[in-house]
Amino acid sequence: MSADAVVSRKGAHRWASGHPWIYRSAVARRPDAPAGAVLVRDASRHPLGWALWSPASEISLRLLDARADAVIDASWWRDRLRRSADRRASLGGVTSAWRVVHAEADGCPSLVVDRYGEWVVVQLLSAGVEAFRGPIVQALGDVLAPAGILARNDAAVRAKEGLARTTELLAGDVPREIEVREHGVRYLAAPWDGQKTGAFLDQRENRVRAGQLARGRALDCFSYHGSFALHLAQRAERVTAVDSSGAALARARENAARNDISTIDFVEADVFDFLRDAESRGDRYDTVVLDPPAFAKTRSALAAALRGYKEINLRAMRLLAPGGMLFTASCSFHLSKPMFLDILTSAAADSGRRITLRQLLGQPLDHPEVLTIPETGYIKAAIVEAD
Ligand code: SAH
Repeated sequence: MSADAVVSRKGAHRWASGHPWIYRSAVARRPDAPAGAVLVRDASRHPLGWALWSPASEISLRLLDARADAVIDASWWRDRLRRSADRRASLGGVTSAWRVVHAEADGCPSLVVDRYGEWVVVQLLSAGVEAFRGPIVQALGDVLAPAGILARNDAAVRAKEGLARTTELLAGDVPREIEVREHGVRYLAAPWDGQKTGAFLDQRENRVRAGQLARGRALDCFSYHGSFALHLAQRAERVTAVDSSGAALARARENAARNDISTIDFVEADVFDFLRDAESRGDRYDTVVLDPPAFAKTRSALAAALRGYKEINLRAMRLLAPGGMLFTASCSFHLSKPMFLDILTSAAADSGRRITLRQLLGQPLDHPEVLTIPETGYIKAAIVEAD
């Protein structure tokens, strides 16, 4: 037995073509070592580099460093984190919250680091990266000097790694609510119990874009704590924010007050019902936002998800006033970019309206999408206009 891993030709090919994961089936000799970093060799025992090793996972190895002589310690993590932090330096001028490390896209597989002002929320999403908790916390302290570090390790993927799902303070203190400044708008993030790490940072620039184009009567569907609605209210006369979660809407109300905005109406409803009722009433909106949760969380859920996306887009298109604008998004990884465009095309065909594609949008600077690692990209978004 050996502490090194040996991978098949297929596994080695995956790394060579730019994807950091090697699945269990491509590991020819499993390392005799606990979760952590292991040296990986090809079939002829030539070293390929260091990887995170997850004994219980289907994703056995995640490439860390192609240098065989690399030493994966606190100083290695500090260098990686610093490089990630530097890539995003310009964001500090427009927002107080951003993603500092987008996992595989920043060469830090299964590690997410989000910054909320002076505080940091991390997610350690594999057994391999969990083994480096201590060095990562130390490196975060060195690079970001946060007032506190919270681990939102309650994500479902942790179960596939044989890890417990917990929310845990790792250093200092982190408040229940943190005010985020985002391109002139303020809202409260909820790091301990909000969605993701406390807010949807991945739609920041899309919210700004939707806000720039907003006018007249606006509708924000799947509003959560109102972050699109707050931007829409900068130009629209009146905004309706719809969400099925009363708790999320309560925060949305607070967020509106925090910005001295009194032009948002909050509606607790299922968006599917709301859109159907609005259509039968003959309502019209000048601006509509659709930012639904991932309808397709697994590949097998894709068919039902496609129907859901088609339905909300079709109804939203029908609700547009002449010249009205729809911002529409999908964050389902399993729904590809071409599928997203197909849905919009098919909804447009059924809408009885002439729908023009004005802009395609994706992820912001702090959520980089690496072309050879499809899992790093999940947001597709478009702005369309009705005649
Ligand atoms: N637009 C938000 C994020 C939306 S997250 C932002 O930029 O911050 C998705 C939201 O959809 C959640 O708040 C969830 O409560 C809500 N939701 C999920 N299914 C729903 C449904 N069928 N009807 C209404 N809201 C729903």
